[in-house]
Amino acid sequence: MNTLPAPFEDRMRKLLANEASDFFDALQTVPPVSIRLNPGKPLPVEQLFPEEQFLSSVPWCESGFYLKSRPLFTLDPSLHSGAYYVQEASSMFLDHLLKHLLPDRPVKILDLCAAPGGKSSLLAARLPKDSLLVSNEVIRSRAAILKENLIKWGQADIVITNNDPSDFRPLEGAFDLIVVDAPCSGEGMFRKDPQAIREWSENNLQLCQERQRRILADIWPCLKTGGFLIYSTCTFNPEENEAILEYLLQTQDAQAVEIPFNFPGIVRGNSKNPCYRFYPHRIQGEGFFTGVLQKTEETNFKAGKNKKPNSSKTTILPEEIRQYIQHPEDFLPYRQEQILGIFPARHEEFIQYLNKYLHILYQGCELAETIHGKSKLLPAAALWQGLDRSACSSFETDRNTALTFLKKEEIPAPEKHKEWLLITYRNQGLGWCKHLGNRLNNYYPKEWRIRMAIE
Ligand code: SAM
Repeated sequence: MNTLPAPFEDRMRKLLANEASDFFDALQTVPPVSIRLNPGKPLPVEQLFPEEQFLSSVPWCESGFYLKSRPLFTLDPSLHSGAYYVQEASSMFLDHLLKHLLPDRPVKILDLCAAPGGKSSLLAARLPKDSLLVSNEVIRSRAAILKENLIKWGQADIVITNNDPSDFRPLEGAFDLIVVDAPCSGEGMFRKDPQAIREWSENNLQLCQERQRRILADIWPCLKTGGFLIYSTCTFNPEENEAILEYLLQTQDAQAVEIPFNFPGIVRGNSKNPCYRFYPHRIQGEGFFTGVLQKTEETNFKAGKNKKPNSSKTTILPEEIRQYIQHPEDFLPYRQEQILGIFPARHEEFIQYLNKYLHILYQGCELAETIHGKSKLLPAAALWQGLDRSACSSFETDRNTALTFLKKEEIPAPEKHKEWLLITYRNQGLGWCKHLGNRLNNYYPKEWRIRMAIE
């Protein structure tokens, strides 16, 4: 590991007192490896990882597991089918928070700082029935990675946006839950990411704090009365953690929410308000901080009072595409240039509002592209949990064939099949091939293809 900045060491000694040397020792150890399973693509962990790799469960997340060592994830086709997500264990604590905070009714959730998609995929997995997740990332290149990861996760109750927090202003009172996993100085990632050490400075910490305040001031009005804001960082300094919650409590009508749990090692933050700290010498995971605030002031969804946005022109899905949807009655089709997609019908009006104010990168599920009257199935349809598998001709592959497919190379053609062939691995969709009689055309997107040599 790179040498730690001296002012950071001084700060941690003050913060941790007689625990500091255990903390510094922990930073010299190998970071734990953890994954979170996708409940919508159920595969047992024992099938995904051989016994010698599997270690134990993450205590605060039902679908989280530690592995003994880091496998070459890129060469595991199940990662590309969205059967699991590689996620740092401490941040899976969000799962425990959601267990306490989410009601048993439809909600609208905003994940404001979402790329690459760890928290969003966890939120998606926990969404109550008929809910909607808006997953936002301000940096365009990072939003593309978010989109890829969420398409692979495979849910259609998600809208992905690419906006600055201030753009959400017109959506006052729109969300039941907002997650702000804020950009921060990243002290909790020092063990995993030497770049975070190089970028650390007292000045940067100050800039991060100012940015966090700005982000929260911008987004707070979008929370409903009684709604929850989950704030988190992967840093240790109180300026970006407890002080930020304190700032919100002082400037807004809000109350801090106590979350009951019994997980040894997680410690309370240094504040009279409930908030939680994760240290690498106390738990198996990286540094993390989180706290929950509830909005007490009256806020109404103002957009609802504005003139209703015009209904979009009716799009009809051709039967050759519609046949692939398990519950077509739950969705409305849309067309965007050559793309044909669907989004959840019950959120039509809300998605129209989002469209009016925000830059939507992706919504629901993009099923097909039509060129000169001919339809080409899109990868998202293959990865979607709502795909009607009985309408598909599937081709179950072994690891090598799956990896060849994921490299966008030619794979051997099976006999007797429909034109479009769903390529599966461990029975989970990876993408499409088109049967041309004696060979297959590989339709895996080139921007997602594996560039690594297959071992
Ligand atoms: N929640 C993500 C996950 O679990 O995979 C990690 C989010 S990361 C800690 C913080 C994110 O905030 C980054 O993707 C970063 O691009 C984004 N960000 C940077 N500046 C921002 C700003 N001014 N407003 C909102 N988000 C910002």
